[in-house]
Amino acid sequence: LPRLDLSYIDVPDYLECLDIRNVERATEKEVKFSCPLPAHASGDESPSAYMNIHTTAFFCHSCHARGNAVTFAAQVLGVSPVQVTRMLKQRYSAAGIHPDARNMEEEIRKLIAARQNPIKRENIRLDESVLDQFYVDWHYLAFKSDDVPDWLMYLAGRGFTAAELVRWEFGYHPERDRITLPIRDEEGYLVGIKARAYRDEQKPKYLNLKDPQNGIEAFLKNEIVFGLDRVISSDDDFDTLILVEGEYNAIAMQEWHGYPNTVAINGSYFGERQIKLIKRHCDKAILFFDSDRAGFDATAAVGEALRPFINVSVCPEHPGDPMNMHPYSVRRCITGAVSLRELQFA
Ligand SMILES: [Zn+2]
Repeated sequence: LPRLDLSYIDVPDYLECLDIRNVERATEKEVKFSCPLPAHASGDESPSAYMNIHTTAFFCHSCHARGNAVTFAAQVLGVSPVQVTRMLKQRYSAAGIHPDARNMEEEIRKLIAARQNPIKRENIRLDESVLDQFYVDWHYLAFKSDDVPDWLMYLAGRGFTAAELVRWEFGYHPERDRITLPIRDEEGYLVGIKARAYRDEQKPKYLNLKDPQNGIEAFLKNEIVFGLDRVISSDDDFDTLILVEGEYNAIAMQEWHGYPNTVAINGSYFGERQIKLIKRHCDKAILFFDSDRAGFDATAAVGEALRPFINVSVCPEHPGDPMNMHPYSVRRCITGAVSLRELQFA
């Protein structure tokens, strides 16, 4: 995407999308409006906020907040400037307002609702520096070192490239002799570390690390939709989410199979917070779980939980999971997904 040119923004349209009240023309170059920022207990009924319609420079004469269209919307919506920039780029161009731009209004409506009605969170945010203890220089190991450890051979054997290992922040836990994967919440905050076995004799296969002395607390699995932070901050708008069981499968779907709108629900128990997050961020969910007992149970439980709120489709039976399926088979599963509604009335 090209850089955002602030002069393309149609300021009255932008303020309307943000649901700003009492917008009126103030001068030739400025509109004024009621400042929505929290400093105004009574709602700023006689407008004190001004925005330049060419540069989007913003200033409030009452609370003295200042900024531009990006920082202002980020504050109002409680989201990152990156996310605001993406929405604005999609809606405003040299040619005017993009005809398909209702997306932004819809997205902002959801963000405002999310702000007024936050989803309760129990996970503890960890300091980013805890990842340092598991840091691996993947490119060096893959290309320069003569001593390639077994755990790298395992990941390479599964098909991961050094670039993918860097992108998903894989690491290695020397004391536990396990491969680490950071778990982030939907806002991208680090909330846990999952440590995976790479040899058959290591049990259990996954550890939810807990090591308070080194700043690590275990995370609550049924609160996390793995990969959702990347879907939300992506340059693309998705109205569909593909749900898989495990984190590694979500990574395979995003990296290898061309489905950047894939998230993992982390096993078959499905929590209230996961339901809220998923229905908030899509209109349609495609369930792509394993064709085994646990997968069928997950499909039934998740389908039941989401169906009252969004359209839910289910992939046909298939051998293996996304990590070891051919891209063509994956595509057939996704395009062959059948709506639960159709299944029920068939
Ligand atoms: Zn103000």
